[in-house]
Amino acid sequence: MFRKTRLYTPGPTPLLPAAQFAMAAADMHHRTPEFRALYQKVLAQLKVFVGTKNDVLLLSSSGTGAMEASVSNLTSPGDKTLVLTAGKFGERWVSLLKAFGCEPEVVTAPYGETFDLAIVKAAIKPGIKAVFMQTTETSTAVRHDVEAIAKLIKENAPDALLVADGITGLGTTHFDVDGWGIDILIGGSQKAVMIPPGLAYLSVSDKAWAAMENSKNPRYYFDLRKERKNAVKGESAYTPAVALIAGLGAALDYIAGQASGDLEKGRIALIDNAQLNAAATRAGLNALGFTLFAPTAPAAAATAVAVPEGMNSGDVVKALKTRFALVTANGQGEMQGKIFRVAHLGFFDYLDTVALLGAMEHIAKDTLKLPVEYGMAVAAAQKVFAESVK
Ligand SMILES: *Cc1c(COP(=O)(O)O)cnc(C)c1O
Repeated sequence: MFRKTRLYTPGPTPLLPAAQFAMAAADMHHRTPEFRALYQKVLAQLKVFVGTKNDVLLLSSSGTGAMEASVSNLTSPGDKTLVLTAGKFGERWVSLLKAFGCEPEVVTAPYGETFDLAIVKAAIKPGIKAVFMQTTETSTAVRHDVEAIAKLIKENAPDALLVADGITGLGTTHFDVDGWGIDILIGGSQKAVMIPPGLAYLSVSDKAWAAMENSKNPRYYFDLRKERKNAVKGESAYTPAVALIAGLGAALDYIAGQASGDLEKGRIALIDNAQLNAAATRAGLNALGFTLFAPTAPAAAATAVAVPEGMNSGDVVKALKTRFALVTANGQGEMQGKIFRVAHLGFFDYLDTVALLGAMEHIAKDTLKLPVEYGMAVAAAQKVFAESVK
């Protein structure tokens, strides 16, 4: 039997062929008019993709580089900061802040859940320099209510900055970056924008630029002020990941092409697509008798699925790989063995969801010995799809 490798992980995600071709063809030098034209085009497209009038900068690093840049550029040792964490990526904010001399106050939600807004409200006090959170906690596949939290900050600590890791939120969630007041919103190349790992991008508000003038933490490679000065000239401070930037441009063109060349509408279509595929996946897995790990605030970026008591999610991940060459993600940390995760962000369509659910029917029946009738999961997803196109 032939099997095509299919990636269903929440980063890296499947690659867009047009972006792969653009990357292969990108042999330009980065201090040339050709590159400057490309860079300026991509930075302008990113503003539309993020949906902001703020500056958007690109960094040649994985997403964590932009997280670190936010911390090192905005904080000074000893600053009062707040982290909202509900999983592995939230915990990364805590580690980063500690590495830069801040002892953050921390509000946690249990894995699989989002925050109790009353607890968040009580923690947002005047004097806080910045609040750090995820828009989507990829380790648990939970979506947080950024709009509500931004409002709490405006009401209770209006001087505080809101720094949001939107690495799997961008392209899967509708944000009003400027209206809500998200000061920094971070994205990564290996997620919804359909290209390989290696680029991070972030929007930076005027309020965040002003805060940077007084922050005392050290920074060099990730000095955002230097990056901004260079970006104005169409360049990056150091040698950029030229090929990835060419790929990103092609991917953003493709997203615009899904809506007759209108990137803003294309972005909306991409988000709606992820939301539809997530809803169809949840319906299909529910029909098979699976328990969703994050039923109350599910993300559209990925779905986390709990396996029945006494079973190991690694067996599902392994069976999907060996039988169908279908690559999913196990749980991280304490969640390893308990959940598996499938992605919907980026270059996925409805038929990819049908394929995944068809495979899951086999695995549920043969590996997990669940009482499965073929077609159960696929039919549930088809109902969601049919409703959505009415
Ligand atoms: C993927 C991801 C990151 C970035 O991790 P890198 O490995 O540094 O790219 C950060 N936050 C979230 C929520 C993610 O999903």
